[in-house]
Amino acid sequence: MSLRKTKRDATLDDRLAGEDVEHVFRTLESQVRGGDVDHPSRWVDVADADPAEQRWILHGLDLLARNADGAGPEFSGLRAASLLVDRARGRRHEPGGQRFEQEVMSASGWLEAALPSSLPLPGPTASARLAEIYGRPPVVFDAGTLAASVLPVLKAGLAEEALWWGSPAEPEDLSWMEKVAASIQRFVHEEGSSFPAAHAAGPLHDGFDYAASVIDAGAADDDADARLAFLRRRIHLVGRDASSGYALSAAGYDHAQPGHRDLLDDLLDEWLAADRELDDLIGLLLRHSPAHVAGERARVHLPAHLPAGSWGPKELWRPHLYAVMVHEFVHVLAHPDFTEAVESVADGQILAEGVVDLLTAELLDASRTDPDLGGLVPGDYAVGYGASGRAAIEIRDLAGADQVKAAFYLGRVEFIGLGPEEGWT
Ligand SMILES: [Zn+2]
Repeated sequence: MSLRKTKRDATLDDRLAGEDVEHVFRTLESQVRGGDVDHPSRWVDVADADPAEQRWILHGLDLLARNADGAGPEFSGLRAASLLVDRARGRRHEPGGQRFEQEVMSASGWLEAALPSSLPLPGPTASARLAEIYGRPPVVFDAGTLAASVLPVLKAGLAEEALWWGSPAEPEDLSWMEKVAASIQRFVHEEGSSFPAAHAAGPLHDGFDYAASVIDAGAADDDADARLAFLRRRIHLVGRDASSGYALSAAGYDHAQPGHRDLLDDLLDEWLAADRELDDLIGLLLRHSPAHVAGERARVHLPAHLPAGSWGPKELWRPHLYAVMVHEFVHVLAHPDFTEAVESVADGQILAEGVVDLLTAELLDASRTDPDLGGLVPGDYAVGYGASGRAAIEIRDLAGADQVKAAFYLGRVEFIGLGPEEGWT
């Protein structure tokens, strides 16, 4: 993005010295709103703000007024002017500071409109291949085959993992984890790609605090719903992996069909009720496994103990945990429209985990030069999730890396070939 930088920042401070703050605010607000007269001014919310807050709002409005034309057709000056008033109290940078302009342009929704406005949509050839990737298998879902194709592989995997956590494990330093969480949030907000912070209503602007949202997985809820959710995550993982012969695809499972999702849940409930050993394994692993819990305030469960030696060399644990923490944070940043699109794809895991892990790999790589995080980046990080992860990589190669970010962080799923024409319900 290129912003119009003039000497008017100085002029604005001159104006503020000589003119009534209310007058300057109303003038700039009206300019940013593009002459809208249907909505009452937000001055009533600004009048009692402290002078530093008022100054941030006025400089932000001034910056927007000069750059509104460059944001593209999706930009709403009305919303932007209002967002600045709402976000001023949580500001991190003051006018004149190095990151002030970036902060205003992301918090106001300017970037949210501007970033996708210059992105090309996938062309016809790419669109055709993308449609195949998201495609629905024209077969019935034969859930009965999964007991033989997936369950033994899945259980063996769980039993192996359980050995890492069997004996009393050494606790990880929770304050260290909170520090890393805060650094991840700072890094994603202010360094690297502009897409995550461009979501003006997203977690990077609405007060979400990763460090305060990190919970020891051992303290997370353990009930029938949590165990079912755990097993569901695992069957989507193993069922899209070569180890099970890609059993979910082979069985004709179509995540876009609610009937299939219900049938799969019924099957998993049956397994849990009939197999005490499976149920116990999941109970143990739940206390040491990462998960994000969506909601008004997202929560992230993280393993808070070191695994036994059979997991691998101890010095690799923190880099692994760092990668897990980035992955879970990416989940938190998913735009609601992207999350909704997960349910429109036959292998929903491509979007639900494949794309998340792809973005995780990019962030890990980008954080190599960060003074707080660089030392934690694993030597090599390959996108996981079997066939789903590989499909996510293909989507990036077909549609473009920025297009994937526009889809994921801003909900602009048309840039990865999804949209109403794909049969959304
Ligand atoms: Zn995940």
